[in-house]
Amino acid sequence: MRLLFCGVRGSTPAPGAEFARVGGHTSCVALAHDDQPWTLLLDAGTGIRRVTGMVDGAFRGSLLLTHLHWDHVQGLPFFAAGDRDDAHVHVHMPEQVDADGQVRDAAEVLALAMSPPHFPIGPDGLRGDWTFSGLGPGTHVIEGFDVVAFEVPHKGGRTFGYRISDGDTSIAYIPDHLPNEATNPAIAQTCAGVDVLVHDSQFLEPERAVADLYGHATVDDALELAASAGARRLALFHHSPARADDDVESIGRNLARAAADRGVEVFVACEEDVIDLAATHRA
Ligand SMILES: [Zn+2]
Ligand SMILES: [Zn+2]
Repeated sequence: MRLLFCGVRGSTPAPGAEFARVGGHTSCVALAHDDQPWTLLLDAGTGIRRVTGMVDGAFRGSLLLTHLHWDHVQGLPFFAAGDRDDAHVHVHMPEQVDADGQVRDAAEVLALAMSPPHFPIGPDGLRGDWTFSGLGPGTHVIEGFDVVAFEVPHKGGRTFGYRISDGDTSIAYIPDHLPNEATNPAIAQTCAGVDVLVHDSQFLEPERAVADLYGHATVDDALELAASAGARRLALFHHSPARADDDVESIGRNLARAAADRGVEVFVACEEDVIDLAATHRA
């Protein structure tokens, strides 16, 4: 499996020279089976615009959304490779249930944020063959990948994390996460032994009060989960849009030192970075 970081910021894009090395787009990660085309996209933040330049013509594949906050969906109508007549896109999102226990239509839920007067078109205005469906927790096969969807504590809407495997290599993707002692053990177990854990790293320990308020993790939480899951590598992801490159990189170096004796290799997820998981797989 190959992984491409298309957008690594949380909350809102961070344009400007001081953010250029790490990258300013919001959350989006592309996955491919080895040397095959990119067919599985995790979240549709503004980073999804990068995918258009990475595919040959129209996109044919699936989008797997962790939740529906702006920084994970706002790139969707700007995904040119998906918004064309010959595109085939299947959008999966955590299933939403209304107060009466009725499952809500996925496209209608998405349209709450993407439709006039908030935006010129709704999901049905995208060109090509688009399908929207709700996903429950558990095991699914999507684009030939084994996907385990699991509930993640966050704030303001149902949020999933995903463990994704191609049979040889595996990643876990948890971009938005407010860890707690009740749910940590099960999440660590679901992520056990992954090659790369891509995790919420928006805040630092002195910012704990804000992290709690907004439903996010600190980098120490991320390391704790990676270590207890036995993840080989931890990708610091969903960086604060206020954090310039120097600061993000220094956070990465400090955490890498702290992680060395925990058996976890820490790195900063940067836009445009490609990881060939087969090449770095634990023997
Ligand atoms: Zn987010
Ligand atoms: Zn969120």
